[in-house]
Formats: sequence, C-alpha cells, structure tokens
Amino acid sequence: MRQLTTEFVKTNSAAWEMDRIQETASRLARATPEETLRWAFEQFGETATIATGFGAEGVALIDIAVKVTPTPNIFFLDTAFLFPETHELRQRIESRYGIRIKSFQSQLTPQQQEIEFGPRLWSTDPDLCCRLRKLEPLKEALQGRAAWITAIRRDQTIERSNAEVVEWDYQWQLIKINPLVRWGRGDVWDYIKRNHVPYNALHDRGYPSIGCTHCTISVGEGESERAGRWAGKVKTECGLHAPARSLVVLAG
Ligand code: SF4
Repeated sequence: MRQLTTEFVKTNSAAWEMDRIQETASRLARATPEETLRWAFEQFGETATIATGFGAEGVALIDIAVKVTPTPNIFFLDTAFLFPETHELRQRIESRYGIRIKSFQSQLTPQQQEIEFGPRLWSTDPDLCCRLRKLEPLKEALQGRAAWITAIRRDQTIERSNAEVVEWDYQWQLIKINPLVRWGRGDVWDYIKRNHVPYNALHDRGYPSIGCTHCTISVGEGESERAGRWAGKVKTECGLHAPARSLVVLAG
C-alpha cells in the first residue's frame, strides 16, 4: 500500500510533520466546530486567520469563532464585483460582534483589468479573472500566517469532498482548518436560525450560494445549491480551495 511521505512542514509558529497533521485530523475528525476552533486558536493564536465569503457557512463560522475568542482575525476578498447585499452584511456582522473584517483586493481596478485583458474577463477567461481578483489577493492575505480557517463543507462540490478538518494546504503552503467540513446545508441553516446569525438577504431570494454579481444567478426549486455559480460554464470553483489529496506526495 502506498504511504504518505513524511515531510516537515515549516510554518511561522512551528514545524509540523505531515504525520502530525494527519494525527490531528484523525483526532478532530468527530470534533464539533467549536472544539476545532478552540484547538486552532490555542495552537496558532494570532497567526491563524479566518477567510469568509459571507456565505451561510461563513457567517455561521464567524458566530462560532467569536464565541471561542472575542476578536478573531477575519478577512474577505473584495473582488469589486460583490453584491451590495454582501457589503451590507459585512457591516451588520461587524457591528453585531464588535469586530473588524479586513478586506483584500486585486491590484487592478475593474477599469485597469478591462484595459489590460479586455472587456468581460469573467466571461472570456473566468479562471484568469478569479486569479487576478481572488487568488492573488488571497496570497497576500495569507502572507505570514501559519494557518487559515475556512467554512468549506465536503458535500458542496466534488473538489471539496475529500477535505479534512485539518490538512496541509499545498497550494498556499500553510495549515488549513475546515471546522464545518462534516456539516450539511441543513446543519448550517439550523445553526443560523437557532443563533439568530445575520445572513445575506439574497439567500431569501433564491441565491443559496453567492459570489460575484457577474457569476452568480438565482436557482430554481430543487437545483443544486451551487448551480447559480458560473452557470453554463464547466467552472465550479474559483481556485481558492485546491483538493488537498490530489496534491499530496505519494511514495512508491
Ligand atoms: S467569480 Fe467571476 S467576477 Fe468574480 S473573480 Fe471570479 S470570474 Fe471574476
């Protein structure tokens, strides 16, 4: 049977062995999101950061995080193409929890992007558009961090189906922590309703998953929750969450 190679993973706060990451993932496999976040903040402190896109999972994760630690480090990627409802939600969340959520942007304004790459890049080359407006700002957001915490769930996409609660992120070269990985959509909404968590008004208007205005449409009854993202294109992910296992180095 092929085994994972052992390699040392250097983070800013510790040197983690791949074995240790796998052992931690096994130990936290059945942990609640609260337990996972408590472990993450104890382990990585200020060097852990939470990424949010202000989706339903993202707001639930923020609510849980502030109950574990009052001022968690949180950021989002402002692509310049977000819905006004998303910006309004950011303000509601900041005032409800008394926190600041940092934003990271592309170095190119939409106008500069159009001059350099042509009009409607999200339509002609959405991968490049995502790279410029999401991946490059994410790289900056993760600079100097030991771990990032995301709200992904395994059942959202094929690419996320193998995500572990704790894993090494080969794409971004730091620890990735996914406290909600075992939750389903129902768990997320149960949590939001039970805890009166602020959420995006678009969710009540047929938008289960919300990204940029150019690449998000509402979905019909019974359609998959991500059917409105890049509808009509083969693209299903923006590229922030590369599947970890496909990138793991395997020994003969
Ligand atoms: S989701 Fe669409 S508009 Fe937003 S960065 Fe990606 S391609 Fe561009």
